Amino acid sequence: MSLNHTPLGNRVHIGFFGRRNAGKSSVVNAVTGQELAVVSEVKGTTTDPVQKAMELLPLGPVVIIDTPGIDDEGALGELRVKKTRQILNKTDAAVLVLDGIYGMAEAEQELIHLFEEKKIPFVLAINKTDLLEEGISKVQKDERLKAYWENGTCISVSARTGYHIQELKEKIAGLTLQGESSKRIVGDLIRPGDFVVLVVPVDEAAPKGRLILPQQQTIRDILDADAAAITVKDNELKELLQRLGKKPSMVITDSQVFGKVCADVPREIPLTSFSILFARYKGNLQTVVGGAAGIETLQEGDKILISEGCTHHRQCGDIGSIKLPNWLREYTKKRLQIELTSGTEFPEDLSEFQLVIHCGGCMLNEREMKYRLKSAIEQGIPMTNYGIAIAYMQGILRRSVELFPDVLAKLPKKF
Ligand code: SF4
Repeated sequence: MSLNHTPLGNRVHIGFFGRRNAGKSSVVNAVTGQELAVVSEVKGTTTDPVQKAMELLPLGPVVIIDTPGIDDEGALGELRVKKTRQILNKTDAAVLVLDGIYGMAEAEQELIHLFEEKKIPFVLAINKTDLLEEGISKVQKDERLKAYWENGTCISVSARTGYHIQELKEKIAGLTLQGESSKRIVGDLIRPGDFVVLVVPVDEAAPKGRLILPQQQTIRDILDADAAAITVKDNELKELLQRLGKKPSMVITDSQVFGKVCADVPREIPLTSFSILFARYKGNLQTVVGGAAGIETLQEGDKILISEGCTHHRQCGDIGSIKLPNWLREYTKKRLQIELTSGTEFPEDLSEFQLVIHCGGCMLNEREMKYRLKSAIEQGIPMTNYGIAIAYMQGILRRSVELFPDVLAKLPKKF
């Protein structure tokens, strides 16, 4: 993704679902105006979800997810339900494409049940209406669809002729909460004219020639607040602070060098980390701060899930795979089992784990992060994040959340 694109985590995720041969992929292509999906006369051509970020008017920046066709032969298989649930965890709005000739069957009803269970707004696109001999009136008489026609959830479309495709787009736009989010990463904590120092270690694990997404987004948010961002490597921070002649409004550091940075930043300058700011941005700071207590109760042989949002190339280097496991073992002095997952892989059943440590999740949308946290809370498994776990183990968690009085007020005394 190029730098001038909206990050995936900030885009509305729209999932297209439907039975094989309902023309789902053709509807996706008609809506997006692109050959996003593989279209074929052969049933079930789409075997894995196809995902693409794009601008879709009148919605703005979105991610379109074309899902594998559901089974024509009745109920969804167990594995298919599991896969569908994974996709639904990040779906902000769903489009269920029905074949106008065959109407509603058990598989569609199951999907609607899943949408309702996950509280996902949806629209039913009745496709192939150009092929209906009696026109749309026959489908409108289908008892199983009656309530949906009445409440405006249904729309008749034809991917082949383009009939009602624009109206479908408008319906989808109506499902999603529109308007710019008022949430800020750091912009609400600073004033115009302020300057902020960002500490970014450039070691072998750092991506070549660029900053990672959380760093880019933080800098942009500082600029949007009419403030200035000064970015420095950790080993040059001390000298920079001495040379500046004026105290920065705050220092934001990569969590990996938290300990060193904390020692170099005078106590009166507020200090926090990118992952703490992102936990606040995603609305889960309080919970993940509390989850750090789970580190203290780890026992010999306990299993920890470390989860990252990046799918292909790990942007956060080796922090989750090497550094964090080593720090955990050193801190607890216990033999711990570590399991690492990435992208959409996040186990539904967390019962084998005693602790979950998640990355900042900048690639995941808010719905997915909230689902993961809720899942851990419901199963009674403490969940924290990289920056908070590191700050906790280095004894600097209290200092790193001082910028957030409501979180500080609830911090246990031992932290
Ligand atoms: S590992 Fe997590 S925090 Fe790092 S870039 Fe990927 S999604 Fe963002």
